[in-house]
Amino acid sequence: MKRAQQKEIIELIQSEPTGASVSISGWVKAFRSNRFIALNDGSTIKNIQCVVDFENFEEELLRKVSVGAAIQVEGSLVESQGQGQNVEIQVSKIEVLGEANPEEIKLTILSPKRHTLEKLREEAHLRVRTNTFGAVMRLRSKLAFAVHEYFQKNGFYYMHAPLITGSDAEGAGEMFRVTTLDAKNPPLNEEGDVDFQQDFFGKETNLTVSGQLEAETYAMGLGKVYTFGPTFRAENSNTSRHLAEFWMIEPEMAFYDLDDNMDLAEDFIKYVIRFALDHCQDDLEFLEGRLIQEEKGKPQAERSEMTLREKLHFVADNEFKRISYTEAIDILRNSKPNKKKKFKFPIDQWGADLQSEHERFLVEKHFKCPVILFDYPAEIKSFYMRLNDDEKTVRAMDVLFPGIGEIVGGSQREERYDVLKQKMKTMDIPEEELYWYLDLRKYGTCVHSGFGLGFERLVLFVTGMGNIRDVIPYPRTPGNAEF
Ligand code: ATP
Ligand code: MN
Repeated sequence: MKRAQQKEIIELIQSEPTGASVSISGWVKAFRSNRFIALNDGSTIKNIQCVVDFENFEEELLRKVSVGAAIQVEGSLVESQGQGQNVEIQVSKIEVLGEANPEEIKLTILSPKRHTLEKLREEAHLRVRTNTFGAVMRLRSKLAFAVHEYFQKNGFYYMHAPLITGSDAEGAGEMFRVTTLDAKNPPLNEEGDVDFQQDFFGKETNLTVSGQLEAETYAMGLGKVYTFGPTFRAENSNTSRHLAEFWMIEPEMAFYDLDDNMDLAEDFIKYVIRFALDHCQDDLEFLEGRLIQEEKGKPQAERSEMTLREKLHFVADNEFKRISYTEAIDILRNSKPNKKKKFKFPIDQWGADLQSEHERFLVEKHFKCPVILFDYPAEIKSFYMRLNDDEKTVRAMDVLFPGIGEIVGGSQREERYDVLKQKMKTMDIPEEELYWYLDLRKYGTCVHSGFGLGFERLVLFVTGMGNIRDVIPYPRTPGNAEF
């Protein structure tokens, strides 16, 4: 007899009901009436229906076909009698690969009923087997691929920035110390301080908060580069948009000014969103339905006007609104919530740092589309951003998204040696630590720009999930490094 071909469900559900003999492995989602097994193998959100004539099987065996169990079935691929599916498997053979005790399964998130996202987080090692997390994590993978595809198609080289860094001058957030010294009994120097000369690297080291400065050095040789890797910030902000470990995408381009930089950010974001729309229809459809269900619990006024996919199309098809910080301050100062003192941080003067409530007002209430803010006050931005001729503002830009706030932060970099050196001095950035960064401005300096995009914020937007802890497999947040 011809051996059955091992297949994946994503392939099977698209094939014709030829009666061909197939073999498939997966986890049991449901087993109804001792007859219909809904099987899922993770390749798609869709289950395949496996029809069992129970008369032909041992009761003992069928009892082991319970929710959560791993099984392999063989049978023929036939036209489905059920709705919403093309094909099903008429089962001739079942092998139980791994049992799942129903009494124990009942106590986990694998039991077939609704569980809160908080509950799923507690069992993060099992949650990828739920429909929601399967969909989110498949999307995450596709989006990561789209990120690489975009840059590789557009002449960028992928650069791996170091994760352990010897400079703590990057200023993007609090850092995690990397050390092999004995925490209980560290060696001390003559002044009585911890003697890091005796540490593994012979100096203080930390986990990186951003690969930007190193990426700049590579842009000065390869032209256009991007990083895509983990970054770490020990910021004690327990929000739905911050992680202590997150993945950042940081393109850096020689000969790009701020306008080129904004064009790139917009084009890039639209590309990956379109990629998701084109390649992840089933998962997006599921997440869209999930969101509609969730919103039914909200008052009408708080429900979104667009479905998930409408929102994605809207962003992919419309121009982002670009306005200067100064224009934004005018809008905010004269806005209703500001006048009615509804903002937690009222806007009264130019120079104020924008909080997420202000960003969200601009995006969600005022413009109702993604917004790029540029030319921020020098004082609230990092030392490496290029000073404008007004000497008050820098060539910075943030891309703000509905429901998310800041998704991208970037700038044209200060390429003038003297200006950068002076700026470092006034901002107390130690020159001896960043001599290499200054060197770039001595040997063939040029206009250049780049930005950082938090990958999880992108995944949040595309999946419509509400909490950043639910778009990364094992979230690290203050007080939590479980698994
Ligand atoms: P925020 O104001 O939201 O904390 P930031 O100004 O600290 O952001 P940048 O230093 O510009 O952000 O980092 C670039 C991008 O990295 C941000 O636009 C955001 O998408 C992402 N990002 C920053 N901090 C985090 C974090 N703790 N968790 C997840 N993503 C982050
Ligand atoms: Mn931050």
